[in-house]
Order: sequence, then C-alpha cells, then structure tokens
Amino acid sequence: MLSGQNVYTLLKTAENFLKSNGLSNSKSDAEVLLSFVLQIKRSSLPLLRDKKPTDKQISQYKDYVLKRSKREPAAYITGFAGFMGLEFKVDKNVLIPRPETELLVELALKIADEKDKKFVLDLCTGSGCIAVSMANLGKFEYLVASDISVNALAIAKENAQINNAFSIKFIESDIFEKITDNKFDMIVSNPPYITESEYAALDPDLKFEPKNALTAQDEGLFFYKKIASNTLKYLNDSGYILIELNSNKVRDIRQIFVDNKYVDIEIINDYSGLPRILKAQRP
Ligand code: GLN
Repeated sequence: MLSGQNVYTLLKTAENFLKSNGLSNSKSDAEVLLSFVLQIKRSSLPLLRDKKPTDKQISQYKDYVLKRSKREPAAYITGFAGFMGLEFKVDKNVLIPRPETELLVELALKIADEKDKKFVLDLCTGSGCIAVSMANLGKFEYLVASDISVNALAIAKENAQINNAFSIKFIESDIFEKITDNKFDMIVSNPPYITESEYAALDPDLKFEPKNALTAQDEGLFFYKKIASNTLKYLNDSGYILIELNSNKVRDIRQIFVDNKYVDIEIINDYSGLPRILKAQRP
C-alpha cells in the first residue's frame, strides 16, 4: 500500500501511525528508522524528501515502524545509539545510553583534565558508553571497565573497537569482586538504581531493556552502598567518585557517601533540572 511513496509521505504516514499508538516522539522515531533503512544521515532526510525508496526498503521500514509501535526502542531496532557524539552498538543485553549520562562523562573529562587524573575505573559499564567515550575523548593512561554480564562486556568490547578506545581493560566482575588493581584516580559508574515499585510504573519501552541493568534491591540503594563502602580502598588519595543518581533518592544516597567519610560531596543537576550526578572526593 505504501509502494511508490516518497520520503516525505512515508515519514508523515509513519509519524501519524506512531502518534496514534501513543508514542510521544513519533517524528523523531519515524526519522531515525527511515534514515537507518536508507543508510543515510538523519540530517539528510529533508534533502531527499522526493526520493522514492524501493519496495524492499519500504517493507523493511513498515516492519520497523510496527516494532516501534509495539514500544521496542528505536535503538534496539537499529542496533545503534548515539552518545557523546559517538556511535554505540546496542542490543537487549545492554541499557541504551541516556543523554543525562553524558553529563557524568563531561564532568569526569573536566576533572581528569584539570586535576591530572589518569587512571579510571568504570563499574557496571554495560554498553561501555562511559568508559569508551572517556577513552575516545580524553587523555587517560589506563581505564578498567567491569560488568557482571558477559554479554554486556562483549558489546562493550565491540564499542571500544568501533570508537578506537584501545586503552580499556574489560573485566567480568560483580562490582569489585575481580578488580585486582587497587589504585584509581577516579571511579565512575551508572549503576542500576530503580526500585521495584518505580520499575512497575515505567514506560513499556523500558521493559525491553535488561531488568538487571535498571533495578536494584534495597530500595534502589544496593549499588550505592556497595560502591561507597568499597571505593575508598580502590581510590588514590584525593581521588574522585562520580556516580549517576536516582533523582528520587538523593538524600539517602548522599547520606551513604557521608557515612563512608567522603568529602566535598556535590550533587549536580542534569539539563532537565533533576539531580543526576553525585561527585565526591576521597579524603
Ligand atoms: N536513567 C535510567 C532510566 O531512565 C536508569 C539507569 C540506571 O538504572 N542506571 O531509566
């Protein structure tokens, strides 16, 4: 039925279809999926508005739009997500990199540069988006990235290759369990932090993501407690920790770091004004 349509009309049809299925970013989704099918940059779509995709491309597009209408995230359909201006491979074994996590990377790069911090540990690396973008964009001597999931680490390693981040050592480890190097200048992490009740209320899109990358026991505080109580052992004097926050639990999380004797604890808001990163220093 869509045979013979051009880029413009296909986009409109898909956008309206997605919107009628309740998707809030229907225009962006329609564009991301069509540019993926046509193997062009999304920014080139307006220039190609009169182009007529082949029947094969149209049928592929229909298939992808239908998947998206059933809430499969566009990043899983295309297999790629953008983060810090780089491309990351993603699949259902890893969380899709979020724009708010870019703030953590920006802060980490700034501290590393200003304070000459060269040795970094990224815990719960998932797709590797934090460690890989730090390696690609900064000047580090040594980065270690760990995750409990072998499948996630396989993706993270591919992402390191795709983005020329050759300085990363990947370790399969349950938090600190297999981390043998014990002195880092900086520890960064976006750990799972969603509570079971928050999880139940999430958009259906998020249910496609690995649940163990999102939720944490102990009212979402499990990883903060584990990390805060061990990092002092792994951090050099004056070393930093930067960790993404569950914005509903800021007071509890801050207290965990206070109790573990961290100093200069700062909470940094993301671009939508929500508390998103905790930065603290080892005394
Ligand atoms: N920020 C993610 C979300 O929006 C959660 C990531 C995490 O649990 N670390 O759901």
